[in-house]
Amino acid sequence: MKKILLVLLLFPLLIHGQTEQKYADYLGLRAAVMDVDSAMYFDQAIRLNPQEIQLNKLLQKEQAKLLSHYKATHFFPPARNFYQSKAHIEGTKIFSLIQQMPKGGILHLHLLAMADAEWVVKKALELPEMHSYWGEADPRFVKGQLQAFKKGKAPAGFFPTKKLQKQYPAFADSLFQLITFDENIDRDSVDIWYEFEAIFQRIYRFVTYEPVYPGYLERGLDLLVADNIQHVELRVPFRNHLYSLKQPGGGFPIEGLVSILEQAVDKQRQTDPYFTLKIIHTDLRFKNNATIWQDIQETVAMKKRYPEWLKGYDLVAEEDNGEATLFHAKTFLRMDSLEAAMGVELPLYLHDGESDWASVANLYDAVLLGTRRIGPVSYTHLTLPTKRIV
Ligand SMILES: [Zn+2]
Repeated sequence: MKKILLVLLLFPLLIHGQTEQKYADYLGLRAAVMDVDSAMYFDQAIRLNPQEIQLNKLLQKEQAKLLSHYKATHFFPPARNFYQSKAHIEGTKIFSLIQQMPKGGILHLHLLAMADAEWVVKKALELPEMHSYWGEADPRFVKGQLQAFKKGKAPAGFFPTKKLQKQYPAFADSLFQLITFDENIDRDSVDIWYEFEAIFQRIYRFVTYEPVYPGYLERGLDLLVADNIQHVELRVPFRNHLYSLKQPGGGFPIEGLVSILEQAVDKQRQTDPYFTLKIIHTDLRFKNNATIWQDIQETVAMKKRYPEWLKGYDLVAEEDNGEATLFHAKTFLRMDSLEAAMGVELPLYLHDGESDWASVANLYDAVLLGTRRIGPVSYTHLTLPTKRIV
């Protein structure tokens, strides 16, 4: 009886002891899991020098200040729509510190998406030949679509921008709204593509107008270099797809485009002598196999001719709407022998995993096809073994 009583009395202590041990084991396991995770970070081997340590302390101090402010005000920008937080982020001390720091390269940038919208509107209003679609709803055009036309040659519904500005004083503001996103954009990746495509349709024939293109590129690069970005990889077709009022699209030789690129780089090197620019050629993922194979052959030939400019190959456009990467896999698998025959390499830099809908499987193909980098990717979609292959 006494023994039983003793056990009963000691039981809570035993349980407590077991729990303590279990908790110590748990903490050990937790630290080990976090170590394994940290070891996979790209920067885990970087050791900071004394000045970097000083800057890091300053950044951490500012970060802690912001976090306590966010907790007090119940406002956390990364959990919000970016456009609801953009002005706030740009007003923080951390932002101006980061803005001054050297960034290395911007590795994912589309020509049409690098626009300075204010510059676009101003320039569109300067050119007498620039027109904008301001007519009734029409499946062929979107409101605000820009294109240069000879006098009297514009299709119905297109009007000179100068005339529109005179007629509607709010035209410039409306055009700016039509080519930018704001805090009202709060949808998923499929809906957002409708907005993207409408904006790209509005500015494509503006950007590719031969008298506009060099200035557009220069303005975009000016902004990047002002943010201390030293290297740019631009996703754009490496073809001279410009047009003028005398020459239709595709009529200009490639040398013209290369000369525009050279001048753009020379201009930035006046500010940053080490500035570099490379092109990742893009075609559209909804094209058929034969067309993409033709494009790959032409791009490999371009790579042989301009290895200093051309870095790799990519297919763009909405993932859920276009063809899956598996649809193009056979075509990509043909590249090896073509590259060997031509004596050049054209690596893939595929756009995959940007969908938050159904097209996640594209990531497996991107990895298996040996893409050097994957486009805007929700990395959490991948399972651990696939991440290891990446
Ligand atoms: Zn992209």
